[in-house]
Amino acid sequence: MEIIENNKGGQKLCLEGYMYTKKLSRGATIRWQCSRKTFFNCLGAISTNIEITEIKCLKEHNYVSEPEEIAKAKVLNEMKKTAILSSTAKPSQIYADALSGLDEEDRANVGHKDHVTKTIRNQRRKNIPIEPSNTEFKIPKAWQMREGNENVIIYDSGANPFNRIIVFSTFVQL
Ligand SMILES: [Zn+2]
Repeated sequence: MEIIENNKGGQKLCLEGYMYTKKLSRGATIRWQCSRKTFFNCLGAISTNIEITEIKCLKEHNYVSEPEEIAKAKVLNEMKKTAILSSTAKPSQIYADALSGLDEEDRANVGHKDHVTKTIRNQRRKNIPIEPSNTEFKIPKAWQMREGNENVIIYDSGANPFNRIIVFSTFVQL
């Protein structure tokens, strides 16, 4: 059993060539549904304990397992994480780095470079706050801090109808 976690904290469980999406946890049980439910109209599902160490119940799938799809999902997930964590790395570089660790067969499965780099760029865009259209906006918490929880907003004039001045800096750069 292996868990992969996306940028939003969503979890998927991989087991024997099948992938499951976390549905709900009730009491001491987590219910996972086949991630190809819609695609194959599959009713495959499993239940695990909260620690995700034991399988309590398993419903069979209606299609043959797809280990290559899981390998692909894992690589894509890692690339998306890298895209957010190292915001200056070029998508083509992230793609090249991810592929360098794979054998030829897995490489072919990951998908075409243009397609994957587009996914990486989209992922980044989604992570950036919406551009404000007036001076009354709140800066998301994550964008007020840098590593080590240092606040980088050293001055904020606050909203007024005409302008707003915000100064960003770190202690080191002052
Ligand atoms: Zn299934």
